[in-house]
Amino acid sequence: MPYQVRRDFVGYGATPPDPRWPNGARLAVNFVMNYEEGSEPSMQDGEGHTETGLTEAHGLNQVKSGRDLAAEGMFEYGSRVGFWRLMRLFQERNLPLTVFGCALALERNPEAAAALRASGFDVCSHGWRWIKHFELSEEEEREHISRAVASFQRTVGARPEGWYCRYGPSVNTRRLVVEEGGFLYDSDYYGDELPFWVTVDGRGHLVVPYSLTNNDGKYAGWMGTSEQWFSFIRDAFDMLLAEGARTPRMMSVGLHMRLIGHPARAVGLARLLDHMMARDDVWICRRIDLARHWAATHPYPGRGLNESG
Ligand SMILES: [Zn+2]
Repeated sequence: MPYQVRRDFVGYGATPPDPRWPNGARLAVNFVMNYEEGSEPSMQDGEGHTETGLTEAHGLNQVKSGRDLAAEGMFEYGSRVGFWRLMRLFQERNLPLTVFGCALALERNPEAAAALRASGFDVCSHGWRWIKHFELSEEEEREHISRAVASFQRTVGARPEGWYCRYGPSVNTRRLVVEEGGFLYDSDYYGDELPFWVTVDGRGHLVVPYSLTNNDGKYAGWMGTSEQWFSFIRDAFDMLLAEGARTPRMMSVGLHMRLIGHPARAVGLARLLDHMMARDDVWICRRIDLARHWAATHPYPGRGLNESG
């Protein structure tokens, strides 16, 4: 039977598996830097307007069609300045980082792509462009996925092994990602704190859930200062760490270069990294290492979580 996304309100329930993180860690933490600037809806790529998402600009004040030069500059801040600041914060601490990369965006900043290639950070495909996958036809979506894979091979020198859509996926995305081949996991799911397997067209495929809660996107809504963001994410970390004595989990923290890359916000990220590094029972890891660990210690059992038969 062809793969269909089905809803599962049960998941692991009261007895989640022990992830057996390396060195007995109580918690696995993965930081994600979204690299989107240069792939967003824009005049140069044909959308007829400038995107303002997750910038200082309030959508209501923006032009409805045509170029919005203020918003364009706010996007460019991310790739010109924020990128390098976030790279520094992780590299000077020898911490790993995962990039959710929009392929076209990296094509437009070869210097950043070269820095990523040299860094050892893993790149998970955030699509060919920042677009709504659920508005694409199946054929268009198939083409976007294969264009993204080819593009990353050119820019960062390796194909992505993970997939995560900007906005929500379509009902076809997971099947098309598996069909493309070479993807170990996708992160198009928000409903759990541990990876799990699904069966897609007879094959095991790993889902590594992501979080818009532990995310700097909060700055574009109600959150104001770096102290608020720091304490919000630190509280999640501290609670998961305490629970991890019995039920270890994973934690994703999402970052955007044009948002938390500004100094007034980046200082809260630096504080968070130092808070986490003070613990020796935490595995701060790349997303691909987390996925590979799961595949090695909890291999696909022949059927996915809560799939019968
Ligand atoms: Zn994103």
